Parts: sequence; structure tokens; C-alpha cells
Amino acid sequence: MKRFYLESYGCQMNVYDTQGLERMLEDHGYTRVVAPEDADVVLVNTCSVREHAEERTLNRLAVLTRLKAKNPALKVGVCGCMAQRMGGEIKKRIPRVDLVIGAQALPAVLPALQALERGESTAPVIEPLDHYLPPPRPRLDARNLKGFVTIIRGCNKACAYCIVPTTRGPEVSRHPDDVVLEVHELVLRGAKEVTLLGQNVNSYESAGVDFPELLARCGAIPGKWRLRFTTSHPRDMAPETVRRMAAAPRLAPWLHLPVQSGSRRLLKAMNRDYTLDQYLAAVEAAREAIPDLALTTDLIVGFPGETAEDFAETCALVERVRYDTFYAFKYSPRSGTAAARRDDDVSPEEKQRRLALLLEVQRRLSHEVNQAYVGRTLEVLVEGRDAKRGNGLSRTGQNKIVVLPWSDALVPGHFLEATITRAEGQTLYGAPVDAAPAP
Ligand code: SAM
Ligand code: SF4
Repeated sequence: MKRFYLESYGCQMNVYDTQGLERMLEDHGYTRVVAPEDADVVLVNTCSVREHAEERTLNRLAVLTRLKAKNPALKVGVCGCMAQRMGGEIKKRIPRVDLVIGAQALPAVLPALQALERGESTAPVIEPLDHYLPPPRPRLDARNLKGFVTIIRGCNKACAYCIVPTTRGPEVSRHPDDVVLEVHELVLRGAKEVTLLGQNVNSYESAGVDFPELLARCGAIPGKWRLRFTTSHPRDMAPETVRRMAAAPRLAPWLHLPVQSGSRRLLKAMNRDYTLDQYLAAVEAAREAIPDLALTTDLIVGFPGETAEDFAETCALVERVRYDTFYAFKYSPRSGTAAARRDDDVSPEEKQRRLALLLEVQRRLSHEVNQAYVGRTLEVLVEGRDAKRGNGLSRTGQNKIVVLPWSDALVPGHFLEATITRAEGQTLYGAPVDAAPAP
């Protein structure tokens, strides 16, 4: 019996793929182990979105391949986006890597491992395969409450900075019956929250079913549970999606709608496919239909040519929209993308300064936005107990953590009504209705 160890970096979709790899190997007589030292095969599923992620992974691979000193039979494989992007280059950087399988060729991991077992060597595989990994066994997160289902792979957009369309290839939507079945199984196993995943979930289209219809079909699965989805592209945000969200209490009032920049000029240079006005109109429509909506976004600072005015426009946008929170990244040139051909002309120090300024704005805004929750009563999902302080932890549909006084009445997996008593930064504090005062 061969033992394998798996590590996953990057987005939730990589976690999902890693679980698919696990299933494929287990179905063929391999057993997963939790320490690389105990493995015959070590596989790392990688991310290429920013250079920093790749550098960290290369360092990690150097550490993992050193295990061969004690276990010369050990095979080390790299799969996913970095393998797809770098191909044979990985072996040049880390010569003791045995296996390189790109994100579009993941099923090739199994035959490549079998070839290695026969003593053959394997060339990097990056040619796209027309079949995909088996879906993972329906599995909940560490707290046994949440499940994730990839509904669409790849991306048909061509944002100037982004490597994803290269590494993941064009969009392929899964059959709606497969998606609904998987969500249903998660719910039957006790999932209280299921998140539909994709680089661009709202361009989903399969067997005549579009994204709003898929939401309706998943949302019809009975039980007390919540449905979320991420990531949505502003251009594909159909009014029907917002209407479904507004009409179905099952759909969490949370929308992650990456804008990337508040500068009209840069949105164009980024090839984002929408204007600032179209983005703001999508935000307004969503907020009008779903007054309780929490809105989050992604931002990039230091894109080539970003001037102080462009950056000021991003800050102004953030103040105007008043996001519940956002993720901000320093621009990282990715070889092969359109932006990488431009001069990376914002210095690392200036990128850092802009990032720090944005995070400062975020802290203030999140605090202000969250103050508006004080005094409100919201439905929360009890998630567990804070190991350090012993408080109860719960989450609203808006994806906000609410800290509750611990009591035996708090059962992880149960929904209850909680009144918010105070807000600090990103965290809300509250008490179950008719219960002890808040911590
Ligand atoms: N498909 C989603 C979208 O369009 O927003 C997410 C894709 S990407 C994996 C997640 C985020 O990483 C992006 O929203 C963007 O802010 C950031 N990102 C992508 N490429 C980047 C780059 N070259 N440098 C810095 N940040 C980047
Ligand atoms: Fe990358 Fe743009 Fe596609 Fe998102 S929509 S994955 S940022 S190319």
C-alpha cells in the first residue's frame, strides 16, 4: 500500500482539486498520511497568482525534496497552476522533483505515479486533458459545518495582470445535476453552509442552466442551511442573480465583487471589461434589492502606470462604496500576461506604502460599517468555541463573526438569533436573544 502526502496552496478551488486528487489516489490503493516523513509520495498543489506564492512554494519544495536523504525511494510531485505555468522549469530550479503535472492535466498524476513506480521517468504534463478529476468525496471543513463545491473551472476573461486564464484554461461549467447532487450530499452530511466556487461563478452555463437557475436549483434543497458563492465578476452580475438572492432567505446576503481599481483609466488598462460607472450601478442594484447585503472586494495597488491620482481614486471608491471589508494586493508581474510587457514602474516601497494606506482605510471603514450593526438582531450560525478565550463563535449571513458568551445552550451547527451589543474592528460581539449579557 503506497502512502501519499498532499499539500495545497492558494484558493479554495485548489483545496477542492486537492481533495479530488486525494480521492483519485485513494480509489487506486493509495493511503493518505498526515506527515511528509511517512509518505512514499509527496504532492504539492500550487498557486501562481503572485510571484511571492511561487517563491514560497519553491522554498517548500526544496525542504520536501530533502526528505529523500532519509527516504531515497520518496517521489515528490508538483501539480496545479505553478506546474502548468513553469513546466520543465521547475525541475531546473529543484532538480530532485520527480513529477510536474499542470492544473489542466491533474488526472495525469495517477499514470505518472504508476510510471515512476515501474522505474520510468516522467516528462512534465501540461497538455490540457478533456476529462477531469473525480469530484472529492462530500466533505465538510474542520468544524464539520461548511462545504465547498466548484461549479466552473477556468476563466474566459483576460485581465491584463492575471495568470489564471493561462494556468486554468478556458471556462468549463459542470453539469447542473452533478452540482446539485454534490450540494445535496453535503447538506445531508450536515453542512450548514455551502459555497459554490469558481473564478467567475456568474458566467456559469451548462445544459441550458445559467447561474441564477443553478442558485434556484441548489437553493431548493430542503433543510436549515445557507448558500454562498464566490467569486462574481461585475460584468456578469445579472439582475436575475440579485433578484434570486433577495427572494430566497437561503441565499446569504454577501457578495464578493472584485473591482481591482477605482481609476477609470486603470480599469481600462487592466482590461477588466467594465467601466467604473457600470461597477457602481451593479453595486447600487445589489444594495437596492438586498438592503442587508455585505459587500467585499479585491484591489490591486501599484499596477503599471498607477499614479498618485489613480491611487487616490481607488481610495475614494472605497470610501464611497463603504465595503464591509476588502483584500488588497501589491501588483505582481506574471510572465506571459499583457501587463508583464509594461514597465513595473511603481517601486516596491511605494506599493507597500499604498497597501498600508488602503489597509488603514479598511480598518476605519470596517469599524464604522460594523458599528451600524450594534443593537440589531441577526440570525447567526454557531460555529464553535474560541480556543483562547473560551467564547462562542458564530457567523452571520453577511459572513461576519459574532462572538457570544459561551454556554451549553450554544450548539455548533445550530442557528439562533443574536443581538449585537458592540463592534470592534471586523468582529461583532453579541448575545443570544433572551440570554446572558455579551462578553
Ligand atoms: N476571478 C476572480 C476575480 O476576477 O476577481 C479572482 C481571481 S484571483 C485568483 C484573486 C485576486 O488576486 C484578484 O481579484 C486580484 O485582486 C488578485 N490578483 C490576480 N493577479 C494578480 C497579480 N498579478 N498581482 C497582484 N494581485 C493579483
Ligand atoms: Fe483573473 Fe480576471 Fe479571470 Fe479573475 S476574471 S481569474 S482576475 S482573468
